[in-house]
Amino acid sequence: MFRRTKIVATLGPATDEAHHLYDIIEAGVNIVRLNFSHGDREDHVRRAQMVRKIAKELKVNVAVLGDLQGPKIRIAKFKNGSALLKEKQPFILDTASDANAGDEHQVKVDYENLPQDLKPNDVLWLDDGKIQLHVEKIEDTKIYTQVMLGGTLSNKKGINKRGGGLSADALTEKDKEDIKTAAQINVDYLAVSFPRNGQDIQYARELAQKAGSDAQIIAKVERAEAVASEKAIRDIIHASDAIMIARGDLGVEIGDPELVAVQKRLIQLCKELNSPVITATQMMESMISSSMPTRAEVMDVANAVLDGTDAVMLSAETASGAYPKETVQAMAEVCLGAERHPQAQLQSNTNHLAQNFHYAEEATAFCAMHIANHLRDVKAIVTLTESGKTALIMSRISSTLPIFALSPHKKTLATMALFRGVQPLSMSAEKMSSDIAQSTLEVLQKETYLKKGDQIVLTFGDNMHAVGSTNTCKIVTL
Ligand code: PGA
Ligand code: MN
Repeated sequence: MFRRTKIVATLGPATDEAHHLYDIIEAGVNIVRLNFSHGDREDHVRRAQMVRKIAKELKVNVAVLGDLQGPKIRIAKFKNGSALLKEKQPFILDTASDANAGDEHQVKVDYENLPQDLKPNDVLWLDDGKIQLHVEKIEDTKIYTQVMLGGTLSNKKGINKRGGGLSADALTEKDKEDIKTAAQINVDYLAVSFPRNGQDIQYARELAQKAGSDAQIIAKVERAEAVASEKAIRDIIHASDAIMIARGDLGVEIGDPELVAVQKRLIQLCKELNSPVITATQMMESMISSSMPTRAEVMDVANAVLDGTDAVMLSAETASGAYPKETVQAMAEVCLGAERHPQAQLQSNTNHLAQNFHYAEEATAFCAMHIANHLRDVKAIVTLTESGKTALIMSRISSTLPIFALSPHKKTLATMALFRGVQPLSMSAEKMSSDIAQSTLEVLQKETYLKKGDQIVLTFGDNMHAVGSTNTCKIVTL
């Protein structure tokens, strides 16, 4: 069964155990996520090495994604590890108090500018909204609040402001160090947390390049500012190579009701602007401790597939859950189920027939998809690609046919692991420049179900070693 939707799985203590890492890759993980919010440098280096070793063994292309922590604002620690906050009681957040001495009256926050960023009547959500505080007044380093929604608050929980607007820089000192680690690991994708705009992404890209990384940059959409207007959304998609709909923090900032339209709009725009998109957070949440998903989770994953997402993501489910392998298996099956629905197979909503193309490879990619989708008896789309760009454009168009993307470059093969409907296949540079038809047939017969006599739609360039040279679309009988 050819699964079009890709699976991102976060690594952590659970995947370090026994055979779990091998199992989840075998079960179909396409991208592994190293979460720089947890674990230390050695953990990430070791995990990336293991992944590449296993992927080689299993002969699959798995991309490595490094996810920066970003300026997540957090409270410090409590004397007793946690404190019970009662409704209507006063509670103080203080940027200058003792980092280990929080109690039911006050706790330190780790972000110095927080008092300047707030005004009376703002609402703060702690621990993803489980605790809510109403800001009464601000004096110097102290934020005086009243507890609106109480409960037990434990060490290091995150703080968000309803409506967004906290002005912390998108890249912290820790992030800058982690970028260097990411470069050493040679991550294929680097995710930037809490970017406010395209400029934040540009800055991260510069730092990554300076550190020697050519990673694709993912913008995590998780701030109200980033989705405040159509212009803001486009700015962030344009500046990045892919986006992640980080529904956890985004939901807190803009509210759950807004999340529905934002997810759909972001995915639709990504199709239009030739950008891949990951839908993330709580997709199989209950499987952290249960061997099967809830029906609501099944439908959430399925709906993201129907929306047209490139990938669905697992966080704690694989990083610290009890059933990493079962979760990936369940998610893969749900994706396959959703992909059988006509809505997932329709040509996407954007009217490509009315579109003007900017360059030859874009026109060629659309041409190939159009032919493949409308000519009878085509078995697959095959593209010979240097940078993966043609495969990316192809994958913006819905189809029931697989897109086999052949490239001699490791980096390109890994990048394409994220693209919906695309299966990356390795083909040596020598083969690529000799008899194209013969070499392609060899790779396809060896690696796929295609056989002699099958009809495919093939794209390539006159000069196979030049990026952006794809200009030929050919209907070929193998
Ligand atoms: P996180 O990002 O897991 O790094 O917080 C995802 C999200 O906010 O949804
Ligand atoms: Mn987040």
